[in-house]
Amino acid sequence: MQTEQVIVVKLGTSVLTGGTDKLDKAHMVELVRQCCELKKRGHQVILVSSGAVAAGREQLLKPCGRSVIDKQMLAAVGQGQLIHIWQSLFALYGVNVGQMLLTRADVNDRARYLNARDTLNALLNYDVVPIINENDAVATSEIKVGDNDNLSALVAILANANKLLLLTDQDGLFTSDPRTNADATLIGEVSHINDELRLLAGGSGTSLGTGGMATKLQAADIARRAGVEVIIAKGSGNNVILKCMSEQLPGTRFLKLTAPKEGRKKWLLAGPKSSGQIVIDSGAITALQSNGASLLAKGVTDALGTFARGDLISVINSDKQLIARGLTRFSSAEVKKIKGAHSKQIAGLLNYDGGAEVLHRDDLILL
Ligand code: GLU
Repeated sequence: MQTEQVIVVKLGTSVLTGGTDKLDKAHMVELVRQCCELKKRGHQVILVSSGAVAAGREQLLKPCGRSVIDKQMLAAVGQGQLIHIWQSLFALYGVNVGQMLLTRADVNDRARYLNARDTLNALLNYDVVPIINENDAVATSEIKVGDNDNLSALVAILANANKLLLLTDQDGLFTSDPRTNADATLIGEVSHINDELRLLAGGSGTSLGTGGMATKLQAADIARRAGVEVIIAKGSGNNVILKCMSEQLPGTRFLKLTAPKEGRKKWLLAGPKSSGQIVIDSGAITALQSNGASLLAKGVTDALGTFARGDLISVINSDKQLIARGLTRFSSAEVKKIKGAHSKQIAGLLNYDGGAEVLHRDDLILL
């Protein structure tokens, strides 16, 4: 008997349309059957469903452009259709659904993040299947997550999920592009995401959806750091959702890493996009990675981009490799003034005493 798990199932437009220009309701009902089977086994299921824009195109029955405003208009038309279809299909199994439309702004701010988390948990406690999409009709590019792969990783972190299933039109991640290379083989398991793998993932695959392997890899990377196992598999596969819970996993599995225990640190993973970068030297890297220390001005060699005190920034080494993310206690202009300085000199350099820590240990997460 498997222990109960929270499972986020992300369904891309290509899965919901079967590559056509219409939602494939016969396949949607099949996916719903599998989700309801998981619920019967005691698991909790959250859907992240794309398809609003595709549903809008199908509904309007007239040619529409592909500009941002056209897509927002289509999402406004299609999102209602989409949720109506999910609602009626889950009702066949006596299961209620609840719609949540999110943007990055809902996770950027810690208070809004906690609010979204509470709603999600309340839906699960009431045995309702949350169905989540980006709030496309109103989200501007500044506050958009942009693709549902990354959105589903944020949802998996919000829900403290055990598994994230990224269902798509490909069997998984391959050693090269299977559409152009017959020798490409499926990668069954990934324990480490490096630049070579990112290169393999390439760009977006379909014209209807937004994602591609590249965004799936980003999503897998974020989610597994929060302790979520991620599987990329073909959404049209027979019993694919149920198989993802079995020993014979389809697709590519990304092993989870040990998650930070503190909710605040998980939010740092899911939360804001970083506004800038702080470059640090090798001594500071050792202090952060081996000694559990805070980041002091002494170890900082540069600040890139413009950021304010309290913003989320990335910490990188001189080779631009990501070391950590965290909330900075100084603005980019201030970091530039105090970089390399000893703690005693800082108050003099800034004309106020803001302490010596550029990033406090409690406000950073190592990557
Ligand atoms: N939110 C978009 C939609 O519902 C899809 C975005 C994506 O697939 O990444 O059409």
